[in-house]
Amino acid sequence: MVEIQKAVYDDICQTLGEKEAECGGILGARMGEPISKFYFDHSGISTPDAYTPDYETINEILEEWAEDGMQMVGIIHSHGNEGNFPSCCDLYYCEQILRNNPSLKEFLLPIVTLAPFSIHVYRVSFFQKLRISKDNLLII
Ligand SMILES: [Zn+2]
Repeated sequence: MVEIQKAVYDDICQTLGEKEAECGGILGARMGEPISKFYFDHSGISTPDAYTPDYETINEILEEWAEDGMQMVGIIHSHGNEGNFPSCCDLYYCEQILRNNPSLKEFLLPIVTLAPFSIHVYRVSFFQKLRISKDNLLII
């Protein structure tokens, strides 16, 4: 079970839930605590079949979060009707993040579907190969 604060969930509904598909943002938490931060990636690149995070801006946000003891625990983005499972591109950038941050044991890669609005949570870890498992979201 992945716990998320209600205010953060609402923020996701009001940003990703109301935009075109393939928009995204990052999720933050203190180690071992529920998700308590969301940054909507206004400047990320959205095309009809992929979302590419604006890493430069995200890195600045992460520095601010770090001062507050928060770290990035996942990247969330929306899909059109093509499905609720991460694409090969999604898994590829997730693998890069895990390889580049060995202290990160796992990463969340939730997919938002828009009609109807739903968040499908995946946990991704990398140890010799990429492992992915589905989980549920608990709004607290
Ligand atoms: Zn995707």
